[in-house]
Amino acid sequence: MSAARRSPEPLLSFSSAELRSAESTIVFDPKPLPADPDAPRKRWYHYVPVCVTVFLILVFHPSLLYVLVDFHLQTMHQPVIFMIHLLVTYTLTFMALSSLIVCVARDPGPANAPPSRLEGASGEGEEIGLTEALMPDHDFSSPARWCRKCWAPKGERTHHCSICGRCVLKMDHHCPWIGAKCIGHRTYPAFVHFLCSVSFLSLYVATLSIHALWYAFNNPFAVHEFTPVHELVLAFAGVAFTLIIGSFAAYHIYLSITNQTTIENITPFMLLRHLPPLPRSGHSLSDPPLEPELSFKQRRLVRTAHGRILVYDVGWRKNLSQVFGWTGKYGLLYRLWCGGASPGDGKNFPRNPRAEEMLAKLAKALVDADANQ
Ligand SMILES: [Zn+2]
Ligand SMILES: [Zn+2]
Repeated sequence: MSAARRSPEPLLSFSSAELRSAESTIVFDPKPLPADPDAPRKRWYHYVPVCVTVFLILVFHPSLLYVLVDFHLQTMHQPVIFMIHLLVTYTLTFMALSSLIVCVARDPGPANAPPSRLEGASGEGEEIGLTEALMPDHDFSSPARWCRKCWAPKGERTHHCSICGRCVLKMDHHCPWIGAKCIGHRTYPAFVHFLCSVSFLSLYVATLSIHALWYAFNNPFAVHEFTPVHELVLAFAGVAFTLIIGSFAAYHIYLSITNQTTIENITPFMLLRHLPPLPRSGHSLSDPPLEPELSFKQRRLVRTAHGRILVYDVGWRKNLSQVFGWTGKYGLLYRLWCGGASPGDGKNFPRNPRAEEMLAKLAKALVDADANQ
């Protein structure tokens, strides 16, 4: 009888303090991010190419030192020039290896990490409102905003790397030369820095060894027997690396100036994701259209438009500052030393206002082409 009279206790109860804290903020756990259990395991042989890269940077240094000591110091008696060459070549080598370490060791862009983990995020980013967390202002039904492999939301320009088995913020490309990793938002400046450092180093070494070789040809009895051999090897390697790595560096500088990633630049059909909503009737296309359902004419339209529509190009100064911008007193020094990460959260990017108009024209042209078939 006494049990029946007792007022029934609720199945769930919240104290007012708990409710208030849940309403105001979600605080992210500051522990390190757990490793993705579904990510493919990295084997030892994935690190062979990066060892080859380091080997190729260091293997020419004995010859370089030989030429500097034998030619500049002992033959030409130019200690100042010798010191300048030594300083420049070893500074560039140090810079190249520093940015290579950043590319190999740093996560290229954890797509689902809290904003506080990313460079450029303010301390205020550690807490977000519950409403904001539950009702994001992005349409996750869009294929560009939802990863069907990770089954998780994606930021703008985030892509899923099938080799790494994960999403990467502002993914540029997957690079086997840096330990089988992707280049993304947090490693792209370091990657461009590495390419530029190696290109400048190769050009510098090529120039000084060609000059020394020229002297050896004109004064064959003034130089030692083996010095021209070292100079020839250095000149050949310097020119080859300048042409090969320099081309990549120039391509990535072009991409940075026009605010494109490698994937965006080489994949014309990625443009389809940015098309405005198509009319509901009068065509048989999906919304957004899918590449396999396009006819030859429609494909040609997309390819032509891809060369003209730069969705994220907001002017070369702003484009460069999006990738290489810095804050703080020593920001520039850090950029020059190892490249580092791009500023910002890597999930949202300003769009080119002219691109929207051009995308609308492309959408209309695709629908018209479909209707005329
Ligand atoms: Zn994914
Ligand atoms: Zn990858």
